[in-house]
This record gives sequence, structure tokens and C-alpha cells, in this order.
Amino acid sequence: MDLLKRRIIEDGTELGTEVVKVDSFLNHQLDIGLFMAIGKEISRRFGHLGINKILTIESSGIGIAAITALYFDLVPVVFAKKTQPNTMTEDFYGAEVKSFTKGTVSVARVSKQYLNPEDRVLIIDDFLAHGEAAMGLCSLVEQAGGTVCGIAAVIEKEFQGGSKKLRDAGYYVDSLAVITAIRDGQITFKD
Ligand code: 5GP
Repeated sequence: MDLLKRRIIEDGTELGTEVVKVDSFLNHQLDIGLFMAIGKEISRRFGHLGINKILTIESSGIGIAAITALYFDLVPVVFAKKTQPNTMTEDFYGAEVKSFTKGTVSVARVSKQYLNPEDRVLIIDDFLAHGEAAMGLCSLVEQAGGTVCGIAAVIEKEFQGGSKKLRDAGYYVDSLAVITAIRDGQITFKD
């Protein structure tokens, strides 16, 4: 997605060789016009799969997932919580996820009310790095007996191996901007 790649080049900052900071449009301030273009593009790539629910993880996936739902006939959006609030009194599905940015392990949780065997789920996240978050979300869907129809990442860092791991596990993965390397202050994209 050229618009997104251009935006990453113009407004993203690389932190060393592993991390990209895109706070000005994706992770802190949100560019809703760009989110709409992203949602439309995700629907172009995944719209034929009979998706009836979108699942993401707090917090940065929520905005993207919500706007994307506009292009999927307003399907419900569910986000996994990384901590158990005291309002979550009902039973939940849980999966351990190691945080890429913090290095800590937490349990991603979704109430059993919001994932069901009839669900055909699109998993969305802002970044795909080692694939930990996406793997955890797949596990939550499968614990509920639902189907993972696909995994959409806004930005994938291919060199960190997450997409390969997910594809090897049989999942359909497609990312809108695929970074192959971050070197000498330069971000290189696939294609
Ligand atoms: P993974 O679980 O695939 O290793 O990492 C994905 C998660 O880590 C995403 O939910 C995202 O929040 C965070 N993440 C991974 N890489 C980056 C990055 O380069 N920049 C930012 N801002 N977040 C990242």
C-alpha cells in the first residue's frame, strides 16, 4: 500500500534496527483519513472470506479495527484485554502473549460471551513482529471453536519472522506495508 509506505518514510522514525516509531499517525495521534484508507484496503484483501467478527488486542489495534469494521458491514469488533479488570467477572478465554515492546508476558483475555463457534474472525494488529500477539489471538478464537479467516497487519517487519511462523501454522497473513530491513537509518520495504 503505497500511501502507507510513503507515510512511514515521511513520518516514521527508526529506533535502532528493530523498532519503528509511528506515533504521529498510528500509535499516539491517529490519522483517521489514513485509517479509512487502511480499512478499505483490508476489506479489498479479506472481504471475500465471509468474516463476521474482527478481533484485535489493546490498545493500538483498537482504532484500526474499529474503522476497518465500517468496510465489513459493521461486524462486531472485540479486543483482547491484557490485564484482568475487576469488571471482568465472567469466564474468559486466555492466551499468554510476550510483549514485543515491553518484553513482559501477559495473558490476553476475551470474555467467553464474545467469541463463539460460529465466528469467522479477521485478526487485526498495528504491527506484526515475532507474531506473539497474533498467535495468542488465534488461540483465543480456536479455544472458542471459531475460525481464524485471516490475519491483517498494518506494518509487518518481515525479518522478525512472525508472518512465516503464522503461515507455517496454516494461517492466511497479509500486511499492508512489509519492512524487510532497518539499517543505517533507512527503512527498506518489500516490492
Ligand atoms: P509481535 O507480537 O508480533 O512480536 O509484536 C506485535 C506487537 O508489538 C504489536 O501489537 C505492537 O503493538 C508491538 N510492536 C511490535 N513491533 C513494533 C514496532 O516496531 N513499533 C511499535 N510501535 N510497536 C511494535
